Amino acid sequence: MGRCCLKRTKRRTLAISVLPDGTVEAIAPLGATVAEIRRKIEKRAGWISRQRRHFLSLQAERPERRYCTGATHRYLGRQYRLKVTTSDKPAVKLRGAYLLIASRSASTRAVAALLSRWMRAKAKEQFERRLGKWRTWCVERGLSAPRLHLLAMPKRWGSTHPNGRMCLNPELVRAPAPCIDYVILHELCHLKHPRHDPGFFAELEKLCPPWRALKQRLETAEL
Ligand SMILES: [Zn+2]
Repeated sequence: MGRCCLKRTKRRTLAISVLPDGTVEAIAPLGATVAEIRRKIEKRAGWISRQRRHFLSLQAERPERRYCTGATHRYLGRQYRLKVTTSDKPAVKLRGAYLLIASRSASTRAVAALLSRWMRAKAKEQFERRLGKWRTWCVERGLSAPRLHLLAMPKRWGSTHPNGRMCLNPELVRAPAPCIDYVILHELCHLKHPRHDPGFFAELEKLCPPWRALKQRLETAEL
């Protein structure tokens, strides 16, 4: 059940709330027995865990990204440290554990723009290659061949129309490769099943048996 704290007042009913640190606070009438209070809290277990998840997700919001030497960024789930230099020939290169960024200016804006262009190009390359493995699969099932579009979406990784238009969030290239493949398979299932109905999940289960674990890994990944 996690942490609980119990207060008593002259009120007539039990009030339960979840504090931002996850503690359950119960304010009970003076005469209520502990067993009674416990039973009532247990009845609200589903609501309590939803509240806790909500507070956790607020805490997990990513801090502002930094774009100077020493800042870290993820690519395919691995962490890289930026090394920013100024140069007339702007370029981004991966070298070991470093992302070398040669920029005309070391300003946050200039470096962020260069890195974002590089991530987008890598996203296109990675997603096309991973999606390419499923072309025959689509043809064999009479499904439209997926056409990839990169689209920055604030709250989702992808969306797919049965006509073949598949949008993937370029930010996804920061995630571990198995999570990228999971999102692609999820989207492929949408070619045949537009909604998240039982048919959709049956298909996903076949294509990607460990999808639940991958989904969770993606949701909790630091990107
Ligand atoms: Zn979906």
